[in-house]
Amino acid sequence: MACIFCDILDGKLDAHVVYEDKDHIAFLDKYPIDEGHTLVIPKKHYERITDMDSDDVGKIFSLIPKIAKAILLGAGADAFSLAQNNGKAAKQIIPHVHVHIIPRYNNKGTEWTKRQIPSSDELSKLAQKIKNAI
Ligand SMILES: [Zn+2]
Repeated sequence: MACIFCDILDGKLDAHVVYEDKDHIAFLDKYPIDEGHTLVIPKKHYERITDMDSDDVGKIFSLIPKIAKAILLGAGADAFSLAQNNGKAAKQIIPHVHVHIIPRYNNKGTEWTKRQIPSSDELSKLAQKIKNAI
């Protein structure tokens, strides 16, 4: 089955990568709920977190503090939310496990679901700032 995230991993689609290691990659969401919204994914394709073994789940979540701190610094955010959806009814859009890190800003309010469409240039600059902070 075609998977957009596997296409990113295969280099068929571009992404604004902020972090990468042997088993994981993190990149900016193209339709962020807030500026700096990042997705952290395992390189191996799993549809749901319940398909992964618990060691692998532990590994991906152990990366979250490091990446979240860099987002706060790089994007100038004040706080962040985590989300991890499993299955269509839970609003999982891409069927490849991903953890959302959604930065929050004191001066912007707290709308949960509104998406934005920044330019590729904006995303690229922001990705660089976050990468520099990791
Ligand atoms: Zn995939």
